[in-house]
Amino acid sequence: MKRILTGDRPTYDSFHLGNYVGSLKNRVKLQQEYEMFIPLVDLHALTTHFNRTRELESNIRGLMLGYLSVGLEPERVTFFVQSKVPEVLELAYFLSLLTPRSLIARQPALKEKLDQGSEDTVGLFYYPVLMAADILLPRANLVPVGKDQKAHVEFARDIAQKFNDQYGEVFPIPEPLIGEVPTLPGTDGQAKMGKSLGNAIFLTDTQEEVEKKVMGMYTDPKRIHPTDPGTVGGNPVFIYLDAFGTEDDKAQVTSYKEQYTKGQVGDVEVKKYLTKVLNNFLEPIRKKRAEYENKPDLVDEILRKGTEKIRAEAQKTLAEVKKMMKLDYF
Ligand code: ATP
Ligand code: MG
Repeated sequence: MKRILTGDRPTYDSFHLGNYVGSLKNRVKLQQEYEMFIPLVDLHALTTHFNRTRELESNIRGLMLGYLSVGLEPERVTFFVQSKVPEVLELAYFLSLLTPRSLIARQPALKEKLDQGSEDTVGLFYYPVLMAADILLPRANLVPVGKDQKAHVEFARDIAQKFNDQYGEVFPIPEPLIGEVPTLPGTDGQAKMGKSLGNAIFLTDTQEEVEKKVMGMYTDPKRIHPTDPGTVGGNPVFIYLDAFGTEDDKAQVTSYKEQYTKGQVGDVEVKKYLTKVLNNFLEPIRKKRAEYENKPDLVDEILRKGTEKIRAEAQKTLAEVKKMMKLDYF
């Protein structure tokens, strides 16, 4: 069976709509066809949140409930916490030896994080190497991610190829799989909704919170009156409607788009409709989460089993890596 690896940073205790359409949705769809490994990548969270270590445990618990609430099945998926698998750091070191500094310095995500005020540490710089090690440790074939992570997966491909060429075939060359909405914009109109960016609608938001966030959403800034012709393309309200509306919403959404372009419908009416669409989408997820919240030991049990499984795989991969590198002396 082919393998998937993809992880999430425990920088908050819940997933947002962007995480869902960018990556989680593909994971749910593919969990029967692939052997799936999902790390909660606390070491990556530390690259930008090194002063917030106290939140990590509750964020990890929250995201675990998030996985279960969107329908990932613990019987099929191996969930684990990255820092519980020290082998990943050892593999990252070997990969770092083959990594040109200039290649990492060019990664767009690095520049973005620095622009957002992250400290320019060696740890942050090293992020792509550690992420490549995450992917290569279980020898994954496919990596479902949002577009913001595509360059990192491409880096992992290059480094896997370079390792294989240098020492012999150990790693399959992993492929990125980008979600049907490659990058969902934030409620503030920023290009990317992010857990740590203050512009997200979370899968755990209540009906009232969703309504409040949608009503305050960025739309077409040039539009002042409902009679002004509006722009649909790139407008987050319509991007969300397309992403989360069901088949039954399609006709209404098409009609709103036409009316909006002609200045025949106000933002408030469209936003009220979007609130309904999002709450319909979120309701079953909220219900499922509430069921799992009543089983406090479940998360510990899932992570304990998952760690055991990934560590066995990790040790196999590292033994193979060292054999190929002729480091299996003594
Ligand atoms: P942070 O702001 O802390 O980095 P994040 O929201 O970017 O949080 P991550 O844990 O970094 O979330 O990413 C988890 C997965 O969600 C990745 O596959 C990432 O590509 C995807 N993702 C994140 N934000 C979006 C978005 N706005 N649209 C589509 N996919 C996204
Ligand atoms: Mg991120």
